[in-house]
Amino acid sequence: MSKYETVVGLEVHMQINTKSKVFCECSTQFGLEPNSNTCVICSSQPGAIPILNKKAVEAIVKTGLALNFDINKQCTFARKQYFYPDVAKNYQITQLDMPLCSRGKLTITIDGKEKVINITRIHLEEDAGKLVHEIGSRKLDYSLLDLNRAGIGLMELVTEPELRSPDEAFEFLNELQNIVEYLGTSECSMEEGKMRCDVNVSIRPVGQREFGTRVEIKNMNSISGVRDAIAYEVERQKEVFNSGGKLVQETRLWEAKEGITKSMRSKEGALDYRYFPEPDLVPFDLPDSFIEDLHKQVPELPKARKARFIKDYNLSEYDADYLTSVKMVADYYEEALNASKDKKSSTKLLANWISTELSAKLNASKTCITKSPVSSQNLTKLISLILDGTISGKIAKIVFEEMYEKSSDPQKIIKEKGLTQISDESTIIKICQEAIFENPKAVAEFKSGKERAIGAIVGLVMKKSKGQANPQLVNKILIEKLKD
Ligand code: ADP
Ligand code: MG
Ligand code: ZN
Repeated sequence: MSKYETVVGLEVHMQINTKSKVFCECSTQFGLEPNSNTCVICSSQPGAIPILNKKAVEAIVKTGLALNFDINKQCTFARKQYFYPDVAKNYQITQLDMPLCSRGKLTITIDGKEKVINITRIHLEEDAGKLVHEIGSRKLDYSLLDLNRAGIGLMELVTEPELRSPDEAFEFLNELQNIVEYLGTSECSMEEGKMRCDVNVSIRPVGQREFGTRVEIKNMNSISGVRDAIAYEVERQKEVFNSGGKLVQETRLWEAKEGITKSMRSKEGALDYRYFPEPDLVPFDLPDSFIEDLHKQVPELPKARKARFIKDYNLSEYDADYLTSVKMVADYYEEALNASKDKKSSTKLLANWISTELSAKLNASKTCITKSPVSSQNLTKLISLILDGTISGKIAKIVFEEMYEKSSDPQKIIKEKGLTQISDESTIIKICQEAIFENPKAVAEFKSGKERAIGAIVGLVMKKSKGQANPQLVNKILIEKLKD
C-alpha cells in the first residue's frame, strides 16, 4: 500500500467590518427584522446603480498589507453570472483578473517549526441574501428570502494548495483569525457566519508531483470542523484509492453531527460564469498616498507582539502565546502593567492571574475581557497588594471573587472584611504556640525527622488565623520553635 500526502487549499470569506454595505448605504447590522434592511440597490431593482464603499476597499488593502501582499493599484469589478435565488439580479459583483491583493504570505508554526503558506489573492465581492427554510422549529414546505445580508462586503482570500495536514489548515485559520482581529477589518467569527470557509482536499502518492483530484467541502463554520472534515476526507480518499476506485471532482458537505462528508454535486468541468467587466462601476486607480496611509495603520501583529512580550516582560512562550493571541487580552495585560508601580515584579504574576483566575471567570459568565467586571487597574492593585505582603495569594483569591461580583476596589474589600495579612511576629508566635500545643503527634513526627509533618501544624495556624497569617513568617517561626 503506498503512502499518501495530503494537499489542502482554502477559500476563506470574511465579512468586512464596515457600518454600511459595500454598494449602498444600508447598515450591516445583524439580526434585524427580515428585509427591513434593504434598498433599491441591495434588493437588485432594475436600473439601480451601485456606489462603492471606500471603507471596504480600505479594509481589504489593510489586510493585504498586513499579510505581505502586492496591492494592485487598479481597482476593477466584474459580474459573475449565475442563477442565484438569493441575489435577485442573478449576478454577483466581484473581482476577477485584478483582485485588490495578489501573492501574500502567512507564517504558521507547526511542531515548533515555522512554515510559510503562500496566499494567491484577496478580492472584494458582495454577499448574497439568505434563504429561510424553517421558522423556529417549524420546517416550511416553501422557502422565504431575507435580503438583509445581501450586499454586505466580503473579502475572499484564496490560498495556494500548500497546506499538508488537517493541523496546518487549523493553524492557518487560527493565525488568520488572530491577525484579522488585530486589524479590526473583520469580526471573522465563524459561529456568527462572519467567516466561512471552503476547503479543497486531495491526496497524492508521496513523491508524485502532479496533484490528485480534489474535493471541495463547502461552507464550513468552525475551525475545528475544518480540521475534522479534512481528516475524514483524507481517509475516505485513501480508501477509494486503495480499493482501486477513482475519485471524482465534486462538492461535498460536512455533516458535523455524524462526522462525515456527503456528496452534494459533482463538478465536472469548470462552470462558465460568463464574467464580464461590471459596467456600473468605473475602473479607477488607488492613489499611492491611500496605500501609504493604510500601511501606517497596520498595528503590531500577534507574532511580533508575542516576541516582544517574551523579551520585554520575561514571559514564558506559553504565557506570551496565551496573552497575545487575542488582541483585547494583550491590551488588557499591557494596560494593567502600565498602571503598575512595580512593573518588573508584576509581569509574571499578572500574566498568571489573567490566564487562570480571570479567564476562568470570564469563560464561565461568557463575558468579553473588554467588559470584565475586574478592571485592569483593579487587578494591578490586587497584584501589588500581594507583592507588598498586605495579603497572601490565598486571600487574594477570596478578594478576587468579591471584586468580580461587585466590580469593586480590592483595598476597599480588604478593609471591609478585615482580610489584611498578619505579619506581626508576636501575634504569629502566639498562634504558633497554640498550634504546637494542640498537635503533639505532628510535633513528635517532625522531631523524629519527618520534616513533612510540619504541614499539619502550618495548616492549623492558617486555620486559626482565618488564612491571614503571613505563610513565610509562619514557616520560619514554627521551624525555630520546633528545633528548640
Ligand atoms: P475554484 O474557483 O473552482 O474553486 P480555484 O482554482 O480558485 O478553483 O481553487 C480553489 C482552491 O483549491 C485554492 O485554494 C487552491 O489552492 C485549491 N486547490 C487547487 N487544486 C487543488 C488540489 N489538487 N488539492 C487541494 N487543493 C487544491
Ligand atoms: Mg472554490
Ligand atoms: Zn441597500
